[in-house]
Amino acid sequence: MSRTLQSGKQVEAPYFDFMVDAVALMQSRERCLLKLEPELVDKFSCSMCGECCQRPWWIGLPRSYVDKWYAVFDQDPSGRFRDPFIKLDNPTDAQYADMRRKPGSSECIFLLDDRSCYIHREHGAEALSHVCRIFPRYESWFGAFFGSFLLPGCPDVQSLIQAEPLIYYTIGEIAENKWHELMKREHPLGLYGGYLWLGLELDLINRSDFTPVQTQRRLLKGLRRMMDSPVSLSELNQILSGPIQTEAQTQIPSLVALERLAHVLAPFKSVCDYLVDICAGWKSPPELNPAEKKLLNLFLRRYLSYRALTADFLSKKGESFFYPSFFLRGMHLAMLQWLALFYREREGGVLTQEHLLRAANLLGYRYECALDNAAMIELSPRACLEGLEAMLSFDFVDFG
Ligand code: SF4
Repeated sequence: MSRTLQSGKQVEAPYFDFMVDAVALMQSRERCLLKLEPELVDKFSCSMCGECCQRPWWIGLPRSYVDKWYAVFDQDPSGRFRDPFIKLDNPTDAQYADMRRKPGSSECIFLLDDRSCYIHREHGAEALSHVCRIFPRYESWFGAFFGSFLLPGCPDVQSLIQAEPLIYYTIGEIAENKWHELMKREHPLGLYGGYLWLGLELDLINRSDFTPVQTQRRLLKGLRRMMDSPVSLSELNQILSGPIQTEAQTQIPSLVALERLAHVLAPFKSVCDYLVDICAGWKSPPELNPAEKKLLNLFLRRYLSYRALTADFLSKKGESFFYPSFFLRGMHLAMLQWLALFYREREGGVLTQEHLLRAANLLGYRYECALDNAAMIELSPRACLEGLEAMLSFDFVDFG
């Protein structure tokens, strides 16, 4: 029997069944959508660490902001903020300029030595650009699921992903103009298929009899099944929720995975050396004790749940990024484990939440928030799934 959905309540497991009911409701009303609202969004408050103001990210400013504030900052008596904005090459009214950075760095000129923002301090929060005011919050469609989320590039977000895993929802009618805008960036499996897919993934990720890597291996089976012949999502959910055959576990990545990981982790030479030494047999693979496995298990599960929730299945140009996104996620899952294990080795002792958060933060700002999709999008679905399989070739949370 289908449940009654009510805005403000929690998305409940089994998630696929929940989404079936949500889809039935959405289909019964015009321009009706389920909006997902993870509890972490409300819990976020900026710690003013100033990290995001030092990153080489583009801070998009609309023309109206530039017109209003250019002269104020340019003529500031301190003389520190001359020519404060850099006009873009192909400016539009919505995306007109970027913030100027300090010479020889990516740090915003308005970031003060005490890590506070000059604009915020002298002119108040209302004087901040839209991007600076809302970061890391964002409202997403992006070919995934409608919702309010936090970008993983903010150092305060990873700990919230771990501490506040619940998902709430609201149901509402979308204004006609916004509806048409959203439908242009529909999920590759269709509007309703996208929600069902999310339910299927969340059920899998949260199965307590699978390790996080096993959940992704099973998902890989589902993706291969989808690629080979048409299958409904209900049928696929049935197949994936069946019993699992335990596969041989290893702590050594396959050669394909090793090459790819060494390539993407090249800026972190000591991490690469650590990985290569283990794979070459010059160093023993890390042996985790039961408490460390338990910690890693829960951390990866919550990491994967948030990734599923915030999945981006379209490129910037609107092309499907469905299969590449799973390869990318598998790669990040592998990197997260190796980075954390490297920190553990370097510092001696056991794996801690701090090691995992540090690894997830590095991934969040350096890899997840600076996606270069161009190379991935060129890959065929089959090549993406082969890449994903390689990234799942090892598992440190082995219950066997
Ligand atoms: S304007 Fe202020 S909040 Fe925005 S990036 Fe610069 S220092 Fe940070």
